[in-house]
Amino acid sequence: MNALEQRLDYPFGDTLPAPGDTLEVAPGVRWIRMALPFQLDHINLWLLRDRIDGRDGWTVIDTCISRDESKAQWETIFSTQLAGLPILRVIVTHMHPDHMGNAAWLCERWNAPLWISATDYNVARLATLNMSAFGGEHSANFFAANGLVDPDSLAKIRARVNYYPSMVPSVPDTFRRMQDGDVIRIGGRDWRCISGYGHAPEHIALYCDELHVLVSGDMMLPRISTNVSVHDIEPESNPLQQFLDSIDKFAPLPADTLTLPSHGKPFRGLHERITQLHDHHRDRLAEVLQASATSPLSGFDAMGIIFKRALDLHQTTFAMGEAVAHLHALWFTGQLDRAKDAAGVWRFSRAAATATQPSST
Ligand SMILES: [Zn+2]
Repeated sequence: MNALEQRLDYPFGDTLPAPGDTLEVAPGVRWIRMALPFQLDHINLWLLRDRIDGRDGWTVIDTCISRDESKAQWETIFSTQLAGLPILRVIVTHMHPDHMGNAAWLCERWNAPLWISATDYNVARLATLNMSAFGGEHSANFFAANGLVDPDSLAKIRARVNYYPSMVPSVPDTFRRMQDGDVIRIGGRDWRCISGYGHAPEHIALYCDELHVLVSGDMMLPRISTNVSVHDIEPESNPLQQFLDSIDKFAPLPADTLTLPSHGKPFRGLHERITQLHDHHRDRLAEVLQASATSPLSGFDAMGIIFKRALDLHQTTFAMGEAVAHLHALWFTGQLDRAKDAAGVWRFSRAAATATQPSST
């Protein structure tokens, strides 16, 4: 939770769109909110008035996980919110289930194309075929190598083999690529693609300078900090640095930019939030670095330092990924070294050069 949330401005206050309803947040841009059956209990989706190839209709951005409840809510929107016009295009900011889940269903139903980054399209395809991570043997081995030893937890991760396909049963056969700097015409206005890394393979946010509106996806959230995890498929990655570099790409946007996040409420105060996120991660990095002076840390140890509350298994897998991300950020800058212990667990300790420096504090 963001302790400095009051420094952000929520222009719509506590008003939320009711299920099956939409709320206009900028000219031609409508807010849809759908429930999620997780701790993170909702996602925001966006409906933009559009005209493509001479046809009037709508572009949707993000789709919710595939399940009966979300499809029923979409049906209500189709019959009450589209002014009798079709959905012409489905944009997905990134491949995570809450964004991608209904994409194939929407594209098929409306004969509409999917627009997404090539990286996320391909990872989503692999994940629906269970050829990517999020569970199974590789995932369990990754968590074990980062210090998760509880056999029961490891058995559950090993057994979690249908995680992604259960929420994203299929992906459209074709897609149209979005990449950094592309300008997409939506409803007669230009929207610029801004790529972001560290949260998803190649997340695309969209900014409209005419409206001063940023559809930030998961790359800029007002209340919670975006999950930034090392995953088993790319076990030596540095996603925290990628994330911090990516949010700096929003810094040139105007001060009065209205940010439309995937979770939480539309807000102003983008630059304040960029600073808050840098501060937040800098503090977590400092805590981890300090703890490493006492004894070498596994990812599991670092999780206990960063997340001080009790976590269920689902939260633990996210929190472990995030803890390893903090260790790796310090490892990449040379502040930590790593070595595997006798049990095969990576342990990160103060780098020799740092340890021999005289302490000034
Ligand atoms: Zn996401």
